[in-house]
Amino acid sequence: MLFLLASHNSNKKKEMELILPKEFEIKDLNDLGFETEIEETGKSFSENALIKARYFKEMTGLNCIAEDSGLEVVALNNEPGVYSARYAGLQKSDDDNIKLLLFKMKGLANREAQFHTVIACVFDDREYLFEGILKGLISEKPVGNYGFGYDPVFIPDGYQQTFAELGIDVKTKISHRSKAVKKMIQFFEDYK
Ligand code: IMP
Repeated sequence: MLFLLASHNSNKKKEMELILPKEFEIKDLNDLGFETEIEETGKSFSENALIKARYFKEMTGLNCIAEDSGLEVVALNNEPGVYSARYAGLQKSDDDNIKLLLFKMKGLANREAQFHTVIACVFDDREYLFEGILKGLISEKPVGNYGFGYDPVFIPDGYQQTFAELGIDVKTKISHRSKAVKKMIQFFEDYK
């Protein structure tokens, strides 16, 4: 089964491929040479994921999956949420986003947060959504080198280190993305 993953973020493709069984083949927008960035105008992860999946299904005719995800911090009323990638501004980096987040959380005792992802799948002209949530805490400073985005400041529940320290094996096993992908795999198992 071939799916177009409507994303330029090669980390997302890599993380999904580690979980997906061999019968799923994934190509992302880089593989197909698409440079188009779709504006994420939705107010929720589901809306944004659907916007991306529908657009590229329409463009290519391929079955599409799109993922929208982000970090929700309890003490910041679930910020940065759908703005996670552009929290510090459109041209800013992951480091800038982390700096802004830690600045806003300075002195806050409540460090609770969650990673939240929704995968939208447009398959044979039907639409399906798969959600994954992983709870944890925001560290006082960034630690570790693995991963992307807010990995250096996110300590998943049950662990003492950030995702960026824990690395690929732990992330593949427990992440929000892995939870959503596993739901999608189960769906297609039952669909057969
Ligand atoms: P999207 O590409 O619009 O879904 O934006 C997702 C943004 O959320 C990323 O740029 C990161 O800032 C953040 N994010 C989502 N998933 C993760 C993750 O697994 N680790 C760290 N940050 C993440």
